[in-house]
Amino acid sequence: MEKRQFRAESQRMLELMINSIYTNKEIFLREILSNASDALDKLAYRSLTDDQVGLNRSDFKIHITVDKDNRTLTVSDNGIGMTAEELENNLGVIAKSGSLQFKQDMAAKEGADAGDVDIIGQFGVGFYSAFMVAEKVQVLTRPYGSDSAWLWESSGTDGYTITEAQRDSVGTDVIMTIKADTEEEKYEDYLSEYKITDLVKKYSDYIRYPITMLKTHSRQKPKPEDAGEDYKPEWEDYQELETLNSMVPLWQKKKEDVTDEELNNFYTSKFNDWEKPLASLRVSTEGSVSYEALLFIPGKTPYDFYTREYKKGLQLYSSGVLIMDNCADLLPEHFRFVKGVVDTPDVSLNISREMLQQTRQLKIIAKNLEKKIKAELLRMQKDEREKYEQFWKSFGLNVKYGAVADYGMEKDKVLDLLMFTSSKEEKGTTLQEYKDRMPESQKYIYYVTGEDAAQLGKLPQAERILDKGYEILYLTDEVDEFVMQSIGTFAECQLKSINDEDALPETEEEKKAAEEKAESGKAVLDFLKETLGDKIKEARISKILKSHAVCMTADGPMSIEMEKYLKKQGADMAGMKAERVLELNADSEAYAALKNAVENDSEKAKVYAEVLYNQALLIAGLPIEDPAAYTDLVCSLLK
Ligand code: ADP
Repeated sequence: MEKRQFRAESQRMLELMINSIYTNKEIFLREILSNASDALDKLAYRSLTDDQVGLNRSDFKIHITVDKDNRTLTVSDNGIGMTAEELENNLGVIAKSGSLQFKQDMAAKEGADAGDVDIIGQFGVGFYSAFMVAEKVQVLTRPYGSDSAWLWESSGTDGYTITEAQRDSVGTDVIMTIKADTEEEKYEDYLSEYKITDLVKKYSDYIRYPITMLKTHSRQKPKPEDAGEDYKPEWEDYQELETLNSMVPLWQKKKEDVTDEELNNFYTSKFNDWEKPLASLRVSTEGSVSYEALLFIPGKTPYDFYTREYKKGLQLYSSGVLIMDNCADLLPEHFRFVKGVVDTPDVSLNISREMLQQTRQLKIIAKNLEKKIKAELLRMQKDEREKYEQFWKSFGLNVKYGAVADYGMEKDKVLDLLMFTSSKEEKGTTLQEYKDRMPESQKYIYYVTGEDAAQLGKLPQAERILDKGYEILYLTDEVDEFVMQSIGTFAECQLKSINDEDALPETEEEKKAAEEKAESGKAVLDFLKETLGDKIKEARISKILKSHAVCMTADGPMSIEMEKYLKKQGADMAGMKAERVLELNADSEAYAALKNAVENDSEKAKVYAEVLYNQALLIAGLPIEDPAAYTDLVCSLLK
């Protein structure tokens, strides 16, 4: 019999499982049961359109057998089964490609042990978790529509075999030979009826097929008729088939009957997350469309959230029967992080996916859910601020995308949810909260974009705004600038970059003074433009600087931050440059020195021009074009 090798990545994952120090080994059972349930779902779904299946919904079941003598725990289902090829593909390869690599990268980054702690939750390694408790795993399976059965067998990392076998009916047995006890771990527990009952209740209670097991009980033997006076009652064992789970889906239970623990377990097992959810939300509606929904907001950003691999959507059930795993149409993009289930009798069971998109019912549900999710988030923002902050940290970026998507068409749907750090609120403020704090004299909502909030307040342009006691939003996400442009005004208050000339409204006097300064500086400005050439669009006497000497701003629609962003994206730079404006503070000493040099020593003035220009680049976080030349210039001044 030929032994086949696991693919490299699977092999590594398997090693982690086998040598697992993971304390929560017991979850293997829920993984195996959930696979069995999926297999039943698949065949049940098939039976809707295929008369040959010959089974009714009530015929589907999962059975657990404990055999203490042989140390085996067996989970059997009469679901869809697997062909030899499927066995090879499903059980020879683990998880999603790249996930282990990701995990190792993460571990390396965090300096953590490339440990097993959250692999299970993060990637739902599912079937392989059996190796945490079993020294050998056998899968005997007969696929629907076939007479032959197959046995997959593996004792761990040295590979697996697949051989032809016998099975009376369609379905699958997963036979786990439980490891011997060690000092740290009592594997024997997994052969205890009591423990198994407990685990099924704890993790798999909602599974909608009966999970049965023969349970041993003790009873008094009936007293013999001829029993004498000294008869002592005798006991005997007997076995009874019991259904261990209540089979009521959690979302069908009354809200008050569901504990937090049940909700958490349901979430972690169903959505392959290791951590409990940040929040859960029950929605049920009777009306033009009736449905029950149970939604969750995950505690952390899933590792693949910002990749194409991430699938948004909710599980869609029709009267308790799963019809679609990821129904994307139920969630708007800005809430794509939400997980959960929707159960409605109003969508037909054998509807095709294409039809599904068109159904009015689905659209109504989606609309309602969006409202409820938003309401819940706003409630959290108000009543459970820390939780909201955590939410924002995990998914805020995605919500922000909602403000710019479709050219800002949907921005009103997310406006109240947005949070930004600011000069007054390190932990974040909403636009409304900002507005409520504004002094009467303040006309605009100010913002500045850049990489590091701690540095933004130190920007030369920020000084005069902060000095007035006005708050500035510190925007550090690349998309923020686009968000600001998309929003434009909030509650009749314009959003304004602190780089804007007119960020602070001027009095007539100030205007006049500025004009005079510009007039008297004309020779200096012309000199700068001439010396620096195409590097800048123009030089200007600044209205936005207070004590600092220079800064760089941009004219036109493209800001400097946008230019940086596009560059990072690798966008074609032709014509994608911000129109740079070198701003000078006419009241600064540097300006006076420059003016003097322009009038008296043009060679020196050229050096000053270059130095000031490069300083402006530096402070704007833009690369210095020729660092060596710049250093030489500065040094030439140190004479
Ligand atoms: P996941 O369930 O997350 O896909 P698993 O490693 O748990 O990952 O299972 C791998 C695959 O093996 C499943 O997707 C399914 O196709 C198949 N499988 C596992 N258990 C069974 C079963 N009892 N019956 C039929 N197929 C199964």
